[in-house]
Amino acid sequence: MGRAEVLWRQVRNARRWPGIATPRLMARTGAACYLFGGLLVLLLVALEPSNFRVLTAIYLEAGVSITVGVATFLVGPRLRSWQFQLLVVSAIALITVAVSEAGVPATAVSLATLYAFVAFAAFFLSWPQSVAYLTLAVVCCTAVLHTVMAVSRWSALIVCSSTVVMGCVIALLGQLMVGAERDPATGLPNRRGFDRLLAREIDRAQSGGLSPVVLLLRLELFNDIDRSLGHEAGNQLLRSTLKSWRQELSSEHVLTRVGTDEFAVLLLRATEHDGVALSHRLRAVTSTDFSAGVTGWQLGEAAAAVSARSDVALRRAKLAGRNRTVLESAGLPTLARELAEAIADGAVGVLYQPIVSLADGNQIVGVEALARWTSPTRPDLSIAEVIAMAENSNLIATLDRFVLRRACLDLGWMCEQRNGLPLTLTVNVSGLDLIESNYAATVSETLTDTGWPAGKLVLEVTESVVDVDTPSALATLRELRTHGVRVAIDDFGTGYSTLSRLQNLPIDLLKLDASFTTATSLDSGSAPPPLLQAIAALARALDLPVVIEGVETQLQANAMQDVGFTMAQGYFFGRPQTRELIVDQLTVA
Ligand code: C2E
Ligand code: MG
Ligand code: MG
Repeated sequence: MGRAEVLWRQVRNARRWPGIATPRLMARTGAACYLFGGLLVLLLVALEPSNFRVLTAIYLEAGVSITVGVATFLVGPRLRSWQFQLLVVSAIALITVAVSEAGVPATAVSLATLYAFVAFAAFFLSWPQSVAYLTLAVVCCTAVLHTVMAVSRWSALIVCSSTVVMGCVIALLGQLMVGAERDPATGLPNRRGFDRLLAREIDRAQSGGLSPVVLLLRLELFNDIDRSLGHEAGNQLLRSTLKSWRQELSSEHVLTRVGTDEFAVLLLRATEHDGVALSHRLRAVTSTDFSAGVTGWQLGEAAAAVSARSDVALRRAKLAGRNRTVLESAGLPTLARELAEAIADGAVGVLYQPIVSLADGNQIVGVEALARWTSPTRPDLSIAEVIAMAENSNLIATLDRFVLRRACLDLGWMCEQRNGLPLTLTVNVSGLDLIESNYAATVSETLTDTGWPAGKLVLEVTESVVDVDTPSALATLRELRTHGVRVAIDDFGTGYSTLSRLQNLPIDLLKLDASFTTATSLDSGSAPPPLLQAIAALARALDLPVVIEGVETQLQANAMQDVGFTMAQGYFFGRPQTRELIVDQLTVA
């Protein structure tokens, strides 16, 4: 960008009052000035026609003024700044012509008071532009009154000085009004400003526009730095973060500061996914960690409801661990609605995959419950994709609660069929379940209701959406274990499970991800892969039993047994199947 362009941008943006000096208000003000100006001139000609030189010219002028006023009103919010500036210049020209048409000085002076309308421009334009138009008005007024109407220079100057004074007062009042909605440290709109902007955008969306989306951001370390290293360090962090963020924000994004360490970006015309994507882009350009909550607006909702939901999204993001974005969707999309209905109707299926003991001739010692659901509109989706969608649309807790209850009842039935055969039930749990404060209580309640013993339940936790070692998740895991429920880390070896954390996590079991089974070449007779041996040794040292996932061949089963693993799961032992088929297998065993 050249120097001239930079200068021009600074001039254009010398004063920006987002949400106050809106195009709609600008158009209405311009329209009102033209309409009233035209009507006042008409009235004057009608009352004192003899005070004008050429009547047709003045009638024509009044007509033009009224027509432009109506047209400007109809253009409304589509009015651009350059068009408004054109209106200001035309108004000065029209008033100057009208004054020169007056036959007597008194009428000329009274018409010259119309220059006062030019003062309103000071509310909508940058100060350099306002100074330019006010000066033009003063020059035209003085020139036409003094040279054409022979009014003394000083009298002419006094007539138009009122326009200048009005312009200054309007600009000052606007500045004061905006000041109340601005954060002094950053110059961004504050909470009050944000509330008004959101209400305005919702107002617009009600009448058919694209709905606004709120992206709430909380800087994780700001308060700590501000408190321990002082305000200057805190401000430095703010400045550098905002500078980086601004690179990613466009004119469709309004950045506001809604709390000490909290910012809100209002996406004017966007979808919730745009909000999520923007949060990722902001994260990519700054090294500062922040939690982010995203939500949109849906028809009929008040601004307060949107604000409250964005707060919930941010709180969930914070609970989920550092540097996360959580979407709290305004309206459930079709797919989510279908799933919600399927859960409510009990139409979600549960299949069971055997878990066998390698040491006891592959005898079934337990089963893993796996949810099954086919969307009528998206039958191609895998269950893993359905789970991800449920996590994004706040349905995962309901789904997991449903699967747990159904599985406990089915296992009770299976054991009844086989005279109390000892089976362990394994159920998958999303990390998001663990940060719900009442999750452990819900599990206990389900166990009591269904009669399934806590000691025979293993909950498998994946870390896809939440860090398992956040305080709230840890508290839930500990509480579950006090009830006698065991906890397993699913897909161990992928995701966030680092070795250093293993020792401190309240867990009882590891499920080794299937990729370790499939990726290792297990030739008959060759030594077991060193990585598997190391994992087996580690698990032994930590006294954690391991279940191997994804065993598909006899060779793999043998190799795993040779390494020292005692439990396994995979298509080789049985695919996920109905409770009836599992019972049949139990008979055979
Ligand atoms: P997971 O918990 O790791 O489950 C094992 C997945 O591996 C299952 O996929 C299973 O069908 C598949 N599998 C088992 N043995 C083999 C094998 O030998 N070879 C291969 N290629 N695959 C095998 P599925 O049923 O598609 O489930 C995918 C994931 O969805 C699960 O992975 C689990 O994380 C999640 N999930 C399933 N049901 C639920 C649920 O009720 N709640 C939650 N939160 N997650 C669930
Ligand atoms: Mg699992
Ligand atoms: Mg797994």
